[in-house]
Amino acid sequence: MDIIDDAQLRTEEMLQDTVGNIQAEVRGMGVVDGFCEDCDCLIPEKRLKAAPWARRCVACQAEYETEKRRGHK
Ligand SMILES: [Zn+2]
Repeated sequence: MDIIDDAQLRTEEMLQDTVGNIQAEVRGMGVVDGFCEDCDCLIPEKRLKAAPWARRCVACQAEYETEKRRGHK
C-alpha cells in the first residue's frame, strides 16, 4: 500500500514538473503570454481560447495582416 501511494505521489510530482517546464519554455520563447506583441494590451481570454497561438490582439492582428498583404505586392 505504502509503495503504491509513494509511486503515485512521485508520478504526480513528475507531471507537475513537466507542466511547469512547458510553461517556462513557452514564456522563455516569448510565445503566447497573453499580451499583444504590438501594443502590449492584454489579449482577451476568449481570443486566446479560439487561437491559443495568438500573439496580437484582434486590432493589431488585423493591422499586421494588412501590412503583410501590402508588403507582398
Ligand atoms: Zn494589440
